[in-house]
Amino acid sequence: QLQTERTSFSDNDENEEQRSLELSGHVGFDSLPCQLVNKLVARGFCFNILCVGETGIGKSTLMSTLFGRTFENEEASHYEEEVRLRSQTYDLQENTVKLKLTIVHTAGFGDQINNEESYKPILDHIDAQFEKYLEEELKIKRSLFNYDDPRIHVCLYFISPNGHSLKALDLITMKKLESKVNLIPVIGKADIISKNDLKNLKRNIMNELLSYGVQIYQFPTEDEDVAEINSSINNCFPFAVVGSTDDVKIGNRMVKGRMYPWGAVQVENEDHCDLVKLREMLLRVNMEDLREQTHSRHYELFRRCKLEEMGFKDTDPDSQSFSLQETYEAKRKELIRELQHKEESMRQMFVNKVKETEAELKEKEKELQERFEQLKRLHHEEKKSLEEKRRELEEEMNAFNRRKVAADTLMGQALQGCSQQPLKKDKDKKK
Ligand code: GDP
Repeated sequence: QLQTERTSFSDNDENEEQRSLELSGHVGFDSLPCQLVNKLVARGFCFNILCVGETGIGKSTLMSTLFGRTFENEEASHYEEEVRLRSQTYDLQENTVKLKLTIVHTAGFGDQINNEESYKPILDHIDAQFEKYLEEELKIKRSLFNYDDPRIHVCLYFISPNGHSLKALDLITMKKLESKVNLIPVIGKADIISKNDLKNLKRNIMNELLSYGVQIYQFPTEDEDVAEINSSINNCFPFAVVGSTDDVKIGNRMVKGRMYPWGAVQVENEDHCDLVKLREMLLRVNMEDLREQTHSRHYELFRRCKLEEMGFKDTDPDSQSFSLQETYEAKRKELIRELQHKEESMRQMFVNKVKETEAELKEKEKELQERFEQLKRLHHEEKKSLEEKRRELEEEMNAFNRRKVAADTLMGQALQGCSQQPLKKDKDKKK
């Protein structure tokens, strides 16, 4: 049996009553949170980590240390031609909770001679994941509940312990990433500098991030269960981390650490480094907040820009709300206008091109005609001079022939004269 009690009216609609009802017995909907949890646990969770940092800074080792298992990862070379992102997904299970973990590494980051554009492939990768999610969201038949979220939930930005503060590349990249992803700066291989140097490095990094206005992720302090721990950890940025998957013997205990000639660094010892804090914050306390911030802050920003780019608006210039149908119609008209405009300019371009080609052809024809006339003239002149030469040769030949005939005649007469003379001599002798 339910008792009804009138308590308030809705602000928007005076006819709509909002009443608070008291139950006289257990009806069972208090199990709703459990139902939700069971459903989510059965489905499993996705968590995607992006590790940005120079080659050899300890990204892979830190991931293995954080999750307590070795993730096989191809060692990156220092001679990559450009920054490439390598992504690997693992199915993990802790008790009944399944986690699809994707780790994305940057290969070649910080190794280029010109680092100016090194952040671009990283931004492109983050946007590509947002794009995939948006595509799924805009599908008619979509299944976001079962969809493996590809969006990057956190970016661990590895800062080198060598140096006094951030490099220009770090500042530029972090500034570009701040509006795209939850950014957590960490100092890699923090065991290679002294405690004092580490303290100064941390202070310098934070001052620089502050003065350049780089927005890093802040652990949420609204929820009172985690407010205390989160606000104290918010002052610990950047985390100084040491990674190792090796076991070292400390007394009679085996712990994860790095052994040096002068002693051992225990990665899970809070006096030695901030790995435990990072793991606590990242995985145990704020994983859901990181996922939620990714959706409500970074993805929403991407989605808004993308939809505006595509012509969608919530309100028209008179602040009246826009229906999807109107938006679609407006975009369609705009696209048709653009298409007509493009068609017209292409037609004009084609006509101009034809005219240009016609003019060029005419010019060529004229040139050829002139050349032909010139050749014709040359040919005529050559022919004339050859005719002249032929005539001269013929005359020479005629003169020669005439001379030859005259010479032959003379020769004949001379021969005749010679042959008569001996006969006469013989006759005289006989006499
Ligand atoms: P990645 O290229 O950034 O993934 O670097 P790796 O994790 O492959 O580490 C490169 C080298 O640095 C390996 O020889 C690791 O053993 C070593 N290394 C990793 N983490 C640390 C650390 O925290 N401190 C020190 N001193 N060496 C580390």
